[in-house]
Amino acid sequence: MPQPSVEAPPPDTEPDTQTAFVSMESEPVLSYEVPKSSPHILVDELGYEPGQEKKAYFFGGELPERFFITELSTGKNVYEGKLESVRYSDLYQCNIAVGEFHDLTKEGTYRISADLLGNSCDFAIGTDLYRELFREACRTYYYNRCGMTLTSELAGANAHNACHTGKAVLRRDMTAELDVTGGWHQDGSGSKDSAAAAKSLINILLSYEVFPGAFTDDTGIPESGNGIPDILDEARYETEWLLKMQDPSTGGVYSAVTVAENPDRKSTVSYVEDPGEDASYAFAAALSKFSFFYQDFDREFATLCLKAADRAWKYGVLNAGSASFENAPASEWKFPAAAEIYRASASKECESFLNGYLAEDPFKSEPPDGLPFYGCVTYLNTKQKVNTKYCGELMRSMMLRAEKISEGSRNAPFGVPATPEQNNNAELLNNMMTMTLVDHIITNHEYDTIIEDYLHYFLGRNPMSVVYVDHVGTFSYMDLNESLGLMKQFDSDAKLIFMLSRILSKDGFAG
Ligand SMILES: [Zn+2]
Repeated sequence: MPQPSVEAPPPDTEPDTQTAFVSMESEPVLSYEVPKSSPHILVDELGYEPGQEKKAYFFGGELPERFFITELSTGKNVYEGKLESVRYSDLYQCNIAVGEFHDLTKEGTYRISADLLGNSCDFAIGTDLYRELFREACRTYYYNRCGMTLTSELAGANAHNACHTGKAVLRRDMTAELDVTGGWHQDGSGSKDSAAAAKSLINILLSYEVFPGAFTDDTGIPESGNGIPDILDEARYETEWLLKMQDPSTGGVYSAVTVAENPDRKSTVSYVEDPGEDASYAFAAALSKFSFFYQDFDREFATLCLKAADRAWKYGVLNAGSASFENAPASEWKFPAAAEIYRASASKECESFLNGYLAEDPFKSEPPDGLPFYGCVTYLNTKQKVNTKYCGELMRSMMLRAEKISEGSRNAPFGVPATPEQNNNAELLNNMMTMTLVDHIITNHEYDTIIEDYLHYFLGRNPMSVVYVDHVGTFSYMDLNESLGLMKQFDSDAKLIFMLSRILSKDGFAG
């Protein structure tokens, strides 16, 4: 690793590991043994809303015919049901069955039991069960704010002093110092990637776009009560950091801040990595999206963000094919960036790019996924002039993607196409986002059920019998691996927010 030719900045304070995200979801995850004492009757350990479809999964070598539900406050059996859809799973080498209890709607705490299998974990039926979890998922970004002091009054056990406040040096010119403090931690190291930041920001803004009614101004962050939904205040904190990552002379966006140990191993030095195509387009997409929703609250700052986004876009276009971009495939970010800038500003340049790009029917053979999928959603949701032929083609491709996912879910032993090793939470979250976005555009009851199956899966109805969020349930992902928690990962926490905001909101699209 090259060493700086200048004196290294003073040692930085390490973030409190209690508060920092521990990983990015792209990290490989090992395979695990199912904890020995875990139940063979799987429920959502947080519980079910009275009107929600309610199912439990049963698995074992031999299965009984019936199950019983006990209300814990009275100790009485209040429900008896039949195990259905029994089948042998080669994947899990056991029999798996479903038990439905949709018509149990009385609020309370319950436990399911069955001969041969024992008991399920306790679970609730009630309204607004997900509110506290949602609030905590949102506040996790606040807990992970870098470069500012979090008081115990607001952050409780997650309070920490301002961290990573030293200057950073440019990788390509180590005599140049830069202030790139702020933003959210992405893992325990203090390093931050611009495209990853943009992606989380976009996922958070998508929650606000699709389910604005879920978001309030009273979650107990420093900006609460300022008349702006707290989620947009939180998004602004990251946006302000991203603005520092833009080279004012070119509009290019630095790819990352990398924190490295000095040879003495007692202090660290932060490097600002060279501008890149992905970083610039990702920045353009995220900041124009932020600008679009923030203009109702602070027009001046929203305009500044939109101008910065446009400069980053132009940098990307201008530098295509240049030495640093050479041989790289076209950035996946370019299409979503163009769609966002076009929606926010009616940019002629982006309109012309979109028309050229969509004329090829780019998703004809392979339906869109991930970033291109987001680009489709934005194009379909813009009030700017769009080509209806392209809209039709995009809709058809997006529905094909949703059909693929729904096909996989129909055939999955636990309602969700997971593998026994449970190493694909990232893919499952991606599926959930796709299904939810398509469902919002076309409204399909079967999709509602599939989307909720994903939520229940993460909250305990999975073959590992663990809950993948903090502070909920009996058996935690912590027994498997700390990095598997949805709130513990920079990227997946944003998707958890999206998943929960759907439950908490009955509203339509914002903007
Ligand atoms: Zn920090």
